Amino acid sequence: MNTRDSEIMLQLLEQNGYLLSNDLASAEAVIVNTCSIRGKAEQKAYSFIGSLRRLKEDNPDLIIAVAGCVAQQEGQKMKVRMPHVDIILGPQSIYQLPDLFQQVANERKGIISTTQSKDFTIPSFLPSLKHGLPHKRFVTIMQGCNNYCTYCIVPYTRGQEVSRRRSDILAEVRHLVASGVREITLLGQNVNSYGNDQPQEERTSFPELLRQVAAVPGLVRLRFTTSNPKDLSPALMACFQDLDNLCHHFHLPVQSGSNAVLRAMNRRYTVEEYMAQVAGLRQACPDISLTTDIIVGFPGETAADFQATMDLMEKVRYDSAFSFKYSSRPPAKSCDFEDTVSDEEKVERLAIFQNRQREITGERYQEFVGRTLEVMIEGMSKMGNGQWSGRSSHNLIVNFHSPASYSPGDLEHVTITEGCLNSLRAELNKEKVKND
Ligand code: SF4
Repeated sequence: MNTRDSEIMLQLLEQNGYLLSNDLASAEAVIVNTCSIRGKAEQKAYSFIGSLRRLKEDNPDLIIAVAGCVAQQEGQKMKVRMPHVDIILGPQSIYQLPDLFQQVANERKGIISTTQSKDFTIPSFLPSLKHGLPHKRFVTIMQGCNNYCTYCIVPYTRGQEVSRRRSDILAEVRHLVASGVREITLLGQNVNSYGNDQPQEERTSFPELLRQVAAVPGLVRLRFTTSNPKDLSPALMACFQDLDNLCHHFHLPVQSGSNAVLRAMNRRYTVEEYMAQVAGLRQACPDISLTTDIIVGFPGETAADFQATMDLMEKVRYDSAFSFKYSSRPPAKSCDFEDTVSDEEKVERLAIFQNRQREITGERYQEFVGRTLEVMIEGMSKMGNGQWSGRSSHNLIVNFHSPASYSPGDLEHVTITEGCLNSLRAELNKEKVKND
């Protein structure tokens, strides 16, 4: 979401005559887009914003804006702590950034724009393709979340769920595809709730929206993220059977394998229900790649609860997992819970989880060896060894040698030869080489 918000702010400023600069020292304005989902990210943001004080002293006309969740959450507190910041704006205010710049330039006084309106609507917006990879883009379909998982600050920083108008989403997708984009990822905090805030007569469910986006002529690949398992419907599973361009990857955050911990987290599903969702997805799409998010050391998590997470991981066999140790994030409700797991224990559990996940990822990658996959090219491999790099439908990175020259978004068929730590190695499909 933050990446997409940064793209939107950049485009709005460019439309108002600003140019992107790579040189911090000579820039006329600096925008820091922040994330507060983990304590570490917030500390890093504060440290970077603090380091800008010097620049402001050297150039008092410099405009410093801080956007994102830390800005939303801290507001006035940030202004007191970082008086050199000119604009503090929350996620709902990013569309007003050019006006806020103008206001600061005219009035020379700081602005805090963090109001969250229940009547907020995501404006119509046709993105430019000036920056970033030319073949793939994110499209925001909703903002905010109503779920109040007890560890999470998103409902406080991004507000309540607001679904974007279906016609705006489709217009943006058509515009992108007509401009050469081949892969779209639909974005929302919980895409499965899409439409729930819309009047009954106008409501479109997420699976219906997915089908309409998938039908846009010329769209080669479609992805989405993120889904709360409690809202994953059979209608969404059926999309994996019916839509040829829907990629075979599902990020399904489980967070814990213990029902007691899931209850304390207010996730509103049980391990048994989650496993039924996994089975349903695998039935609809046997080839589906599953990834997840895990928190270890949640308040009250016992050794047996942690073992339950390890057991679940063995059963599901995720292709990869984002895993973190629990840290309290005010004003999330879990800040009031007694933090019963020591930091050493959290570190140890995280290491155990990550080591085993690494092994499972290696084993899963090994299962791809010998298979022929269609890869969408992203460019030359970052390893600098003359290989091409792309992604499979499962969202796995695949590197391979080829005498051909490709553009980002081109498709190639390759045969997997090796599973590496974070990617697959492949060779050009033999049939293809024979026919060329
Ligand atoms: S569903 Fe996701 S975004 Fe919403 S409160 Fe829970 S963890 Fe946060």
